[in-house]
Formats: sequence, structure tokens, C-alpha cells
Amino acid sequence: MSLNVGILSIQGDVQENLVSTKSAIDELGLDVKVSEVKTPDEISQLDGLIIPGGESTTIGQLSLVNGSLKILKEKIESGMPVLGICAGMIMLSKTADDRVIGKTDQPLLDILDIKLERNSFGRQKESFESDISMNSIGIPKFNGVFIRAPSVSDVGSGVEILSKFNERIVAVKKGNVIGTAFHPELTEDTSLHKYFVNLIKASKN
Ligand code: GLN
Repeated sequence: MSLNVGILSIQGDVQENLVSTKSAIDELGLDVKVSEVKTPDEISQLDGLIIPGGESTTIGQLSLVNGSLKILKEKIESGMPVLGICAGMIMLSKTADDRVIGKTDQPLLDILDIKLERNSFGRQKESFESDISMNSIGIPKFNGVFIRAPSVSDVGSGVEILSKFNERIVAVKKGNVIGTAFHPELTEDTSLHKYFVNLIKASKN
């Protein structure tokens, strides 16, 4: 059975995630189709989804307007694995306030019980890279690329902390839902994308 993985292509790092996911699939030698998705119909046919980094207010507003926000929430709540990267993790959260401007009342999926601080490490020019580790999912060393990244200030029950940087939580997982503050698609390392593809495969067994 061929699996169907989508990259939400509303705004942000879509192409980079397509390339990383294709490389991960090739390295794993699996029969998985990966494509850009944006309509409710395309989303309804998925076995797994990546919500890329970009600008969460834009991704939220546009997915609300085109009707995909509702089906995204339904699919993820019914068990479809999802990897939310940076703005994607913000989209998955229940509460996200901006570090400087506070409340933005942006549309969120309200799925992952985490409290988020947007732009937690500063502006674009304060972007940085640092080694981080995600030992509990078998990735001891990973190059974290942080661009206007959020951090998680609080986690609800059952949310596993995968990684911290400078005492701040930068990757979390609860069941089928993973969120990272950093951008794995901007590195050559496919280990997180491979982990995610394997999670989708396991969800179908
Ligand atoms: N700061 C952006 C937001 O709040 C996220 C940045 C990113 O995805 N690299 O949406």
C-alpha cells in the first residue's frame, strides 16, 4: 500500500520540505507519495502531513478562508501524524502569544496542549544555528536552524519534551503530533523527516 504524505502549501518552506521528505523516503526505500496540498479535498486523502515554517498568521488566515483549517483539525484529531515546523508548531498549539506584541488572536488548530511564545529568540537578524539533541526519538545530535523561532513555555499533560535549547523547550511530541521550533528542512540531515515518515508508516500498521 502506497502512503500519501502532504506538505501544506499555503505559505512558507514548502519546496524545502518536499525535497527533505523525498530524500527521507528514498533513504528508507519506502513506497510513499509526497505532494503539495492545500484544498480540503487534497487534505482529506492524506496519511500524514507536514505544516512548514513560514508565517503562522498568514497560514492560519488563508487556511481558514479556503476551508482547510477545519479538515486539518479533524484529520489530526482522528490520528493522522503531523509534523509542525516553527510556524507549523504555532498552528498546532492551543495558545500562542507574540513575545513583543502579546495576543494576536490568530486562527490556530488548537490541538497540542502547549503554551507558545512566538518570536521567542528575537527578530530575523537574530536567527542562529545550534546543535540540539532529541535523544528520546533516537536523534542525539541535530543541527537546529532557528529563524524567528517560537519556544514552548508550558506543556500540558502527556506532552513529551523532545528537546531544549538554553533551558527553553524547542521540540515536543504528543502521540501523532510533533512540533519543532527549528527547521529540519534547511539542513542536509534527513533524520527527523525519516523519523516522521516511519511514524506515518507505523500509524497504518
Ligand atoms: N515567527 C513566525 C511566526 O510567528 C514563525 C517563523 C518561522 O516559521 N520560521 O509565525
